[in-house]
Amino acid sequence: MGSTVHLINPSSVSFGVAVITPRWLYVLAAATGTRWGDPNIVDETLESIDPAVIASGDVVGIGIHTGNARRGYEIGRLARERGAWVVYGGIHATLFPDEAHEFGSAHAVVRGDGDQIWPEVVADCFAGQPSRTYEGGRLAADRFLPARWDLLPTGRYMWASVQTVRGCPKHCSFCSVWRTDGQEPRQRGVDPVVREIVELRRLGFRFIALADDNFYPVTFDDLAAARRRSDPSRLHELEAMRQDRFNLMAQLAQLPDDLVFYTQITMEAAEDPEFLDAMRRARIRGALVGVEAVTAAGLKDVYKGFNLAGDELVARLKAFRKHGVHVLGSFIFGLPSDRQDTFDATVALAEQADLTFAQFVLLTPFPGTVDFDRWSSEEGRSSTLIDGVPITRYWMIPEETRPKLFTPHPTLSLEEIRVRTQGAWDRFYSWRHLWERSRVVESLRSRIAFVLVSKLYRQMYANTGIATDSARVARSARWARWMGMAARRLFLAPPMPDLAMPGPADAVEEPTWA
Ligand code: SF4
Repeated sequence: MGSTVHLINPSSVSFGVAVITPRWLYVLAAATGTRWGDPNIVDETLESIDPAVIASGDVVGIGIHTGNARRGYEIGRLARERGAWVVYGGIHATLFPDEAHEFGSAHAVVRGDGDQIWPEVVADCFAGQPSRTYEGGRLAADRFLPARWDLLPTGRYMWASVQTVRGCPKHCSFCSVWRTDGQEPRQRGVDPVVREIVELRRLGFRFIALADDNFYPVTFDDLAAARRRSDPSRLHELEAMRQDRFNLMAQLAQLPDDLVFYTQITMEAAEDPEFLDAMRRARIRGALVGVEAVTAAGLKDVYKGFNLAGDELVARLKAFRKHGVHVLGSFIFGLPSDRQDTFDATVALAEQADLTFAQFVLLTPFPGTVDFDRWSSEEGRSSTLIDGVPITRYWMIPEETRPKLFTPHPTLSLEEIRVRTQGAWDRFYSWRHLWERSRVVESLRSRIAFVLVSKLYRQMYANTGIATDSARVARSARWARWMGMAARRLFLAPPMPDLAMPGPADAVEEPTWA
């Protein structure tokens, strides 16, 4: 039997089902090609890997981000012991290639986009001569690969994921996207995106996440700034990019009307009713919006001055809802300007602004961000050890002893921040509030689905991420597993194997500019 390529998404918690398909697995499966047979795809958010499937001479590709790097290294060590070639990729490996060699028994590390370079890496491994590092770089959008959706297991994922744009022009201090994916948005053509979506609907997916860094890459401010330049080329470029967004949405609007899309977007899109209307017609029914903080001081803490605070913030968030786009508001707790009353005020604002979902995350200095650079270079930081691991490499600390917060707060204890954050989740997702919010959908079945999915979301992200008590984490994972099984069926639709591709992308109305 020939050697196999394995592609592994590590996770130390498995839920049996997952909400969103990890797209990278299926893109790299496409990049692998068929020369070595179809790759073996393992998503540990579904089930842990069975080491026996890895044989000597196989190639094991492991994609890591900071949250799953430690588990990824465990798998890498195990795979190397079994005689396989071990290769790491993903944002964390891009930032810390030497760490993957030192702790993860890597033969090779791929930095940057893997879409094009991956077949070369696999060929080198099978030839017994992998390089230590490969530079995948930042590919132009027309070189992104569509995913191999034919390899998806049936009935395990509720949402599929398709990427339409990589990169974000902003520079939020807690986010690494603009530094790793770049500030120049790389927007895919309409046709390859629509082809992937049609393929997914043929398979029976009706919920599709547009897994973009920022679905609104050109704002009115960007256009105004470009207009002030004497050279009009930048303005033309931005106008073309904006037009392409409208072309994409017009194409989505032609697809079967049971499709539902969800994306990530900056709050500035609320300034643009024409864009929001196009989103509604395209059935982009939900968007994650990084609200982060509800006060001007909090926004300054994270370099997000382009967001609004107070009543203006409520009005902006409501604008999405008015145009039929439900918002998942994302908030950060633990900012220096937070006070005891910030937690309640944030939940109250989330409710006042008609947010359909909310997430409350703890301020974490993620590698690759401005916050991390500042935090890790503070005096004495790298000499602080926990279980013998410098705190500046906190992702290597075992999960049971890993702190949940890393920066001392001027007025609140870290435990108080953690407990109050948990309280914010508990309040926003209480049965009573959920049932009231479920009025956003009509039928009883849909209301039950809404409540189930909300509870599932809370179990997966709040209890397993913020709780320090391992029994609570295990209990939550079991609950999430059970609810996931129940909720999964509500997301699937009968396959449409004969669904045709829609007409040409340019046959849409010209939008007017502000
Ligand atoms: S948080 Fe969002 S808006 Fe800010 S840089 Fe990251 S992707 Fe862009």
